[in-house]
Amino acid sequence: MPAKKPKLAVFKFASCDGCQLSLLDAEDELLLVAGAVEIANFPEASRRILRGPYDIGLVEGSITTPHDVERIRHIRKECKVLITIGACATAGGIQALRNWKDVKEFTRLVYASPEHISTLDRSMPVGSYVHVDFELRGCPINKYQLIEVVNAYLNKRKPNIPAHSVCIDCKTKGNICVMVAKGTPCLGPVTQAGCGALCPSFHRGCYGCFGPMESPNPASLSKQLKDLELGNHDIMLLFRGFNAYAEAFRKESDAHEK
Ligand code: SF4
Ligand code: SF4
Repeated sequence: MPAKKPKLAVFKFASCDGCQLSLLDAEDELLLVAGAVEIANFPEASRRILRGPYDIGLVEGSITTPHDVERIRHIRKECKVLITIGACATAGGIQALRNWKDVKEFTRLVYASPEHISTLDRSMPVGSYVHVDFELRGCPINKYQLIEVVNAYLNKRKPNIPAHSVCIDCKTKGNICVMVAKGTPCLGPVTQAGCGALCPSFHRGCYGCFGPMESPNPASLSKQLKDLELGNHDIMLLFRGFNAYAEAFRKESDAHEK
């Protein structure tokens, strides 16, 4: 009798679907690398839904409603390993910008009948509500990193995902530093690698879509940004992007809010 394939399930919360598209884009590699996973639940790719429990659950999106909280707790029980993918699931996403405002004000502005909207005050990462086995950063994620993480868990080993900064990738590629040479503000020194230093390779500063690296020093970077004559407001905005609610970026943006 053929061996049972590990069941992989994909779940979506508040997000743009970009990370799920990275998974769709990696379908060939995923099947090759994993040997044979069974896609048990992936509404973006197939209407076929197999019941849990699942060996691996990939979760995209942030938790923004009371229903999301109930659902993620149920999903956690259904999945042996739970991996969050992307800035929304790992840091609350761009929608976490509302965490600095009164969300009721937004619902009043956008909806004709805001009393029917059921939402939480804040957009939060999945890890704020349930235990997460691994957080894969990126907006969107890097598909090769995703394959590595899935492969690692299927083979019961630690994922080999770099925790170093974008600067290291710049040095590896021989890029001339945009900040030192051109005075362009760049979050590369505090941002986790994953994109191959894409923006500095095209002479642009990094705006941090892979979120804070391991042990970042945003305060030190802010001093450099001040030397480039950025004001507090500009520094606050630089840290308030896709990963604004990741702790290191949140604290640094708050420190420059007047
Ligand atoms: S360009 Fe940015 S990421 Fe590259 S070395 Fe300079 S500061 Fe670091
Ligand atoms: S913004 Fe930064 S992390 Fe995002 S692609 Fe550009 S260099 Fe990479």
